[in-house]
Amino acid sequence: MIKAITFDLDDTLWDIWPVVERAEALLHDWLMARYPRIPEQFTPLELRELSQEVIAACPDIAYDRTRLRKEALWLAARRANYVEFDVEGAFAVFFVARNAVEPFADVRPTLERLGQRYTLASLSNGNADLRLIGLYDLFAFSLNAIDVGAAKPEPLMFDLACQQLAVPPEQIVHVGDDPEHDVLGAAQAGFRTVWINRIGRDWPGGSRADAEIVSLVELECVLANWGS
Ligand SMILES: [Mg+2]
Repeated sequence: MIKAITFDLDDTLWDIWPVVERAEALLHDWLMARYPRIPEQFTPLELRELSQEVIAACPDIAYDRTRLRKEALWLAARRANYVEFDVEGAFAVFFVARNAVEPFADVRPTLERLGQRYTLASLSNGNADLRLIGLYDLFAFSLNAIDVGAAKPEPLMFDLACQQLAVPPEQIVHVGDDPEHDVLGAAQAGFRTVWINRIGRDWPGGSRADAEIVSLVELECVLANWGS
């Protein structure tokens, strides 16, 4: 019997990439007004890709997307010969815009219905702020990689969710879009798994999820079929 459902956030409850690209463009404009040598030297995409250099130099902070963004901005500032740089101001521009997401139309109505029967929680590798997004009230609690100190598919976030839910993993369903982070990670932690594939991707290989859906509305059918 399923008692709880955990949800990934980015690309599960809203499209993230158009929002990230817009946030990066706004940050680029902000830098142009204050630290013009940075955007003259780096496109928005090149600024994003500096995170990979940071990860290569400091793999132990790879789980923390906020810290990665800030370190990448510092790297760009140094390469553009700025000794002083308002990294918090720059990140704030990105962060506010990054949280201007539009949840898919099925999210609030479905989660409100599911919340009457199951305990709901969110498990994210990203740095979304559910209060800013307006979905905070739907979840009993929310865990992210920064607070936990490890990203999915590592088991820690799933194990902490079990503890907080006080429910064994086989009574929890995890719903997410990422075959590795969400489906493999949750399966290894003993959860039931649902792959949400809103854009018709092919399964990349490996063990498939226990169920596959294209919208959250179908999740209620899946749960009913499982007798939950
Ligand atoms: Mg995702």
